[in-house]
Amino acid sequence: MDEMLAAIVENARPRHGNGAVATYIPELGKARADALGIAIVTVEGDSYDAGDSDYPFSIQSISKLVSLALALTELGEEQVFSRVGVDPTPDPFNSIMRLEMDRINRPYNPLVNAGAIAVISFLPYRESAARTSAVLDLARKLTGNNALAVNEAIYLSERTTSDRNRALAYFMRSTSILDGDVEDVLDTYFRQCSIEATVKDLAIMGATLAAGGINPVSGERVLSSRVCRVVRALMATCGMYDGSGEFAIRVGIPAKSGVGGGILAVVPRRMGIAVCGPALDAKGNSICGMQVLEELSREMRLRVL
Ligand code: GLN
Repeated sequence: MDEMLAAIVENARPRHGNGAVATYIPELGKARADALGIAIVTVEGDSYDAGDSDYPFSIQSISKLVSLALALTELGEEQVFSRVGVDPTPDPFNSIMRLEMDRINRPYNPLVNAGAIAVISFLPYRESAARTSAVLDLARKLTGNNALAVNEAIYLSERTTSDRNRALAYFMRSTSILDGDVEDVLDTYFRQCSIEATVKDLAIMGATLAAGGINPVSGERVLSSRVCRVVRALMATCGMYDGSGEFAIRVGIPAKSGVGGGILAVVPRRMGIAVCGPALDAKGNSICGMQVLEELSREMRLRVL
């Protein structure tokens, strides 16, 4: 197994030249474009890895799964989905356009930036410190890594350059989608995006989502099976943004990408798979990561869609 994974990684690695590391958050520009790692954790708790599986990266939009799962647990589906939709959008992840076009001004889904920022604002905590620690606490339980932490340099880099997310958030407050203090809500968003992890950490998170909420390594029940089902369904339909349809055809597994180069894929009742390769395509998805997942899905017959 480890040999097959290593072969798939080395086969995909040269493709990093077809993409580019994100630089719109300046600190992300320091990532190694040719880094590529994979880790798999099964629902039985067995683990495999290859390539740069200890390479630390910021989880970026993969964190949207954590804040969404927290909101669904604390508030329920009714409360969350009355204000944020559940359907895919053909627009880029940070698009502002449809916030004014949709009849009720709702963000399309909780995995685009607007939807994720809105969901964070619904969380029942008074300020960013408490909200962030609740998200971090859940991320630690999902990964089983109690040392998981925010990379301060990446957080500050995004906070000082994120005019687009500020625009989304202020617009949503003007239409009463977003609750509370915009800068405080964004602070949680920037911090959770900057949580640093390895593919080994994220594969355990994926295995927990695959297993219906029980972390197969710690044995702890972290989420309800219903919350996992909703999160997996949104990953399948919206997790790769405007590349979700193409990814479903190529790979056929629910997945969520981040501009740090990570992709977390979940094969229900079987395993979590995490890959990281910081060179991205035009839609913000890891070029080599998608290639690795496509080959692995074919080799191991993982397709569920
Ligand atoms: N922090 C990033 C942003 O808001 C997350 C985007 C992503 O990973 N696709 O732009």
